[in-house]
Amino acid sequence: MSTLEISDLRKSFGAVEVLKNINLSARSGEFVALVGPSGCGKSTLLSMIAGLESVTSGEIRIDGHLVNDEAPKDRDIAMVFQSYALYPTMSVRQNMSFGMECRGIPKAEQDREIERVAAMLQITPLLNRKPGQLSGGQRQRVAMGRALVRDPKMFLFDEPLSNLDAKLRIEMRSEIKKLHQAVGKTTVYVTHDQIEAMTLATRIAVMNKGILQQYDTPDEIYRRPANMFVAGFMGSPT
Ligand code: ADP
Ligand code: MG
Repeated sequence: MSTLEISDLRKSFGAVEVLKNINLSARSGEFVALVGPSGCGKSTLLSMIAGLESVTSGEIRIDGHLVNDEAPKDRDIAMVFQSYALYPTMSVRQNMSFGMECRGIPKAEQDREIERVAAMLQITPLLNRKPGQLSGGQRQRVAMGRALVRDPKMFLFDEPLSNLDAKLRIEMRSEIKKLHQAVGKTTVYVTHDQIEAMTLATRIAVMNKGILQQYDTPDEIYRRPANMFVAGFMGSPT
């Protein structure tokens, strides 16, 4: 279980500042939904937590430990993207074992771990298939499976369901909720779907133009939006 603390975080690409003084923390096991219009900086923030983008200024701490200059592989964070990025020539089993293989985990342990996670996600019958032989929902499950076998400290999701049709999106939403309840890992979940955020999150971070507008429980965000932007974006009554 891990905590996340982000203080006075800024990010510039050249002269353009895309994240402005972000302060955000997550308790151990918390599910934070990060929402806001396209281009507001959600993916950039997630990439900085994962270590895929450098920090311009400010601090990112995991379990109190400063990770600003730590390589992605040392952060022990799993990221699931919108595009599933499964290796097309590898079977589902190989896709799931690849990360463990790279870390030198013994084959028997890899297999045990794959069986466990596959059972949890109900993808056991798919283990020998290639990604091309899977539906969108199945591919998404495999992508999550691949993140889970690494038993990371923290999960980052970047709009994982936005490529799926409405029915499947709702189904997967409850799968993700169940999964979070089962493993209890600290999660930051980017979505542009307000309902997804409301149903999944313990707290919601609403961003606009690189500025964190409000960070609060779904109920507080809905009942007491901090400003007109939050009220409008989250569809609150005010
Ligand atoms: P979101 O995920 O909320 O849609 P992004 O984090 O992808 O937003 O982008 C935030 C802003 O940063 C956008 O204006 C985008 O064009 C810009 N941006 C993102 N990545 C880069 C980059 N590598 N170089 C320059 N600008 C970038
Ligand atoms: Mg994005």
